Amino acid sequence: MSTNINNDNLPSPQELEALANQLFKAGPGGFLSELPSQKGADIFSIAPDISLFNTSAPVNAPAQQAPPSTIGGGGISPSAVNQGNAVNLQDPQTSFADPNLSSQSPSLSPATGYSQPAFGGQLPVQLNGDYESYLKKTDLIPDVLLRQNFGVEQLSAAPQDLFHLPYQQDQHFDTELKKVLEQISTSAPGSSGIFNGAPTTTAVPFYFLNDTHGLPAVKADKAQPSKAGISGIITPPFDVNIIRRDFPILQEQVNGKQLVWLDNAATTQKPKQVIDRISYFYKHENSNIHRAAHELAARATDAYEGARKKVQQFLNAGSINEIIFVRGATEAINLVAKSWGDQNLNAGDEIIVSHLEHHANIVPWQQLAAKKSLKIKVIPVDDDGQVLIDEYVKLLGPRTKLVSFTQVSNALGTVTPAAQIVQLAHLAGAKVLVDGAQSVSHMPVDVRALDADWFVFSGHKVFGPTGIGVLYGKEYLLNETQPWQGGGNMIKDVTFEHTQYHDAPGRFEAGTGNIADAVGLGAAIDYVTRLGMPLIAQYEHYLLVYATQLLKEVKGIRLIGTAPEKASVLSFVLDGYKTEDVGAALNQQGIAVRSGHHCAQPILRRFGVESTVRPSLAFYNTCAEIDLLVNTLHSLKR
Ligand code: PMP
Repeated sequence: MSTNINNDNLPSPQELEALANQLFKAGPGGFLSELPSQKGADIFSIAPDISLFNTSAPVNAPAQQAPPSTIGGGGISPSAVNQGNAVNLQDPQTSFADPNLSSQSPSLSPATGYSQPAFGGQLPVQLNGDYESYLKKTDLIPDVLLRQNFGVEQLSAAPQDLFHLPYQQDQHFDTELKKVLEQISTSAPGSSGIFNGAPTTTAVPFYFLNDTHGLPAVKADKAQPSKAGISGIITPPFDVNIIRRDFPILQEQVNGKQLVWLDNAATTQKPKQVIDRISYFYKHENSNIHRAAHELAARATDAYEGARKKVQQFLNAGSINEIIFVRGATEAINLVAKSWGDQNLNAGDEIIVSHLEHHANIVPWQQLAAKKSLKIKVIPVDDDGQVLIDEYVKLLGPRTKLVSFTQVSNALGTVTPAAQIVQLAHLAGAKVLVDGAQSVSHMPVDVRALDADWFVFSGHKVFGPTGIGVLYGKEYLLNETQPWQGGGNMIKDVTFEHTQYHDAPGRFEAGTGNIADAVGLGAAIDYVTRLGMPLIAQYEHYLLVYATQLLKEVKGIRLIGTAPEKASVLSFVLDGYKTEDVGAALNQQGIAVRSGHHCAQPILRRFGVESTVRPSLAFYNTCAEIDLLVNTLHSLKR
């Protein structure tokens, strides 16, 4: 072995390179076939193959400079806490729209805990524009490298090592939010919240740590690794200021104020990647699908079926045949009720729902029950809004044929122990439908780990378009079930005497579907997948804890739904005020919340109210927005 020029008995760089090449070639999947040719380059500086991101839509990355990395959207700077300065959302000096904001927060810490040099803490300041372009341009994405060099199969070999539940990945906002939460006073009613409180000793319950929510904690599935699992370990830092730039509507003025969108449980706002993708479809791909022998039909079919594939991966379904495009969660539940339910349930059979259900998961079963003399039983909840599992077990019996329940309550925010409910239903021989309308945008979902027979969600609640949604169903079950609607697209052969149906998904997609919006939903799924669902869950959890602690300080407030395991939703009533008046007062400040019964009257009545005010959070919300909400409520009370 020759030595290097310093003659210090160390191998020369050329020899090291040759040795490394041998090592990499011997590694799993060849790892790297060759070291990068430039001397001194490390693997993290290899330019990514951006085609791996599978974007058929154009990316309009603006050329402006992104701000240096910060967290929490301007509301949670510890420096602001220490100085007693609330960040004023409407103040251009401190608003989250101000690109200089983060440089005004010198105490913001870099991300901690990343061993990869790729992350290194702050986002590189030279990055252009929005999050999408960041993800595409950066040469610091181990995601790409991992996929390039290991391939998905190798990644799936040990999912327990890959999948990190939320909060296991240190992010900027971890440290920042924890500090801020510690400084919220729980004993200073009327205060503006974070900026003048004494530290609290209340432990924050991180529910992600003890419930996998249907995620494969250790179960290996070599064929189909969970997408959420992959992104869970390798997503780049989560920066709400950069993310917000992707949502044009968040710059909208309402009543002279910047919009604060806290009505995410009703519908979510759309990133420009989704808006652009739909526009691109109509400009370059629009055609009916599956049937024509021309170029645009091929493009449209590819785009539509590509979106189906994205949904399959997003849910970790076993096959694309298990993904049926429908109008939304409501239509999906009606489809199951009016096909499988009608064909399989008989007089005296029982359906169990929970007290938390949205009307969409009550009315179709009631209609079916009336038609077929079925009985509906209801799982009760405790005073915090948690389902009572012991009571549920008592309801299960030989007549139970279906359990249909929500994974997250839209009125209270309760996260139900979904995997447990499914398992118990299966032990009783019942089928299970899980309503994921309020869960898919807030936490990773894995339908195979959950083992639901059906799972439904709406595109518009997961940053996609309205008018498109998904029914997941186990393939054998879908193919055993006769279609509920007949028409074109769903048939193999038709004579006047007889029709032969396609297998799923075709048999449940009669007529021309919502092609463009399915493609838009695919873009939305790409978007949240790149952010990383575990990180989204983690960030939102902090926001929820933050908001809950501040809301508790508002005089005369009663929080409806206080389960330790919650997502996104903060329902409340305010003593002396009608809920619509509170909604109107918030609207004056540009804050959009829902006030009303939220299409969940039974659960509100369980708590003795007919309506609540319901702010609901998404990953683009900030602590500054929550401060504005809470301060407006304080001033109402004054
Ligand atoms: N289930 C739940 C839990 C919901 O929150 C909603 C919408 N609010 C639905 C079902 C129905 O969804 P969609 O109106 O999009 O069909």
